[in-house]
Amino acid sequence: MTAADWIRPEIAELSAYRVADATGLIKLDAMENPYPLPEGLRAELGQRLAAAALNRYPDPHGGGLKEALRTAFRIPAAADILLGNGSDELITLVCQALARPGACLLAAEPSFVMYRMNAVFSRLEYVGVPLRPDFSLDLPAMLAAIAQHRPAVVFVAYPNNPTGPRYARAEVEAILDAAPGLVVVDEAYSAFADDSLMDMAGSHPRLLVLRTLSKLGLAGIRLGYAAGPADWMAQLDKVRPPYNINVLSQVAAAFALAHLAEFDAQTAILRRERARLALALAALPGVTVFPSEANFLLLRVADAEGTFAKLRNAGILIKNLHGAHPLLLNCLRVTVGTPQENERVLSVLPTCL
Ligand code: PMP
Repeated sequence: MTAADWIRPEIAELSAYRVADATGLIKLDAMENPYPLPEGLRAELGQRLAAAALNRYPDPHGGGLKEALRTAFRIPAAADILLGNGSDELITLVCQALARPGACLLAAEPSFVMYRMNAVFSRLEYVGVPLRPDFSLDLPAMLAAIAQHRPAVVFVAYPNNPTGPRYARAEVEAILDAAPGLVVVDEAYSAFADDSLMDMAGSHPRLLVLRTLSKLGLAGIRLGYAAGPADWMAQLDKVRPPYNINVLSQVAAAFALAHLAEFDAQTAILRRERARLALALAALPGVTVFPSEANFLLLRVADAEGTFAKLRNAGILIKNLHGAHPLLLNCLRVTVGTPQENERVLSVLPTCL
C-alpha cells in the first residue's frame, strides 16, 4: 500500500498551494509590501528578539497582543479577538469547527482559493457563486444560494482577492441579514481599502471580521486576527492549536504595533502607486485594468500565458490566473511594488503584450 491508497481521494486530487521561485526576480506575485522594515527599527527589534525566552512555550493567548491590536486597529470593545498563524490558520479553524456532516461553506468565486481548499480539507460542502463578468457581486444569486443551501459559513473577501474590487457595504450587510450561520468578512487588504466592517464586530451576532498583518509589511511573521462575538470566539478557540503564535512572532508583532506609523507611511505610498499604476496600465492598448481597493491590480490581456512568460524572462514575477477560473480568462495579477519596481513594469510590459 502506498500513500495514495490511504490518502482521502479528494485530497489526492488536489495540487499543493504552489509558490513560484522568485530568485533574482522583481517579486510582484504575492501581495507583499515591497518595503523591508526601516533600518532604524531593525536593530531595536533584533535586541527584543534576542531577549525573548525561546526555551519557554509562547503565551498561549498572545500576551498583550490582542489589546495592542484592539487599540491599533480600533476593534470594538464588544468584540473578542482570536489570533492565528496568518489569517490562513483562522480560516482553517472556522472550517474545522463548523464541519458537521452535510454542512456547507459558501463563497463568491473567483475568490481566495483557501476557502475552497479548507472546505475540502474539513469535508464541508463547497458552494461557489460566480461573480459577474466585471467581478462585481451577483447579490441576487448570492441571496438565492444562501436561501437554498443554508450555509454554516459564508466567506466574503472585502476587498476580494484575486479580483481587487470591494463590494458595496450594503451588499455585505444584505448577506449578513440573509445568512443563517457565520459570515466571515475577510479584510486581508483593509490597509488599502476605503471601508471596513470592523465597527460591527462584536455587535452583530454572526459576523466575524478577519484581518492580517501580512499585507501591511509583516507577511513573514504570520499573524492574523479575528474579531467577533464572544460566544463564537470561545467556540473557535477550542479548535486552535496550543501556542499557535510563536514567541518570535509575538515579539515582532508587538514591536511593529508600537511603530505603526512607519507601516502607515508605506501603505500611503502603495495606495498612491496603485492609482498611478492603474492609470498608466489602462492607457496601454490591449490591457484592461479592473478597479482595486487592495495592493494589487487585476489585468486582462490578449494572451496571459505569453505575457506572463515574457515578463518573467524580463525579470518580473507576477501571477498568472489564466485557467484558475473561467471568469479569469487571460487575467494576470500584479502586486503594487515600489515606485521603481512599478516603473519597470510600465516600461517592460508594452514589449510583452
Ligand atoms: N485572505 C485573503 C483574501 C488573502 O488574499 C490572503 C493571502 N493571500 C489571506 C487571507 C491569507 O493571508 P495570511 O495567511 O498571510 O494572513
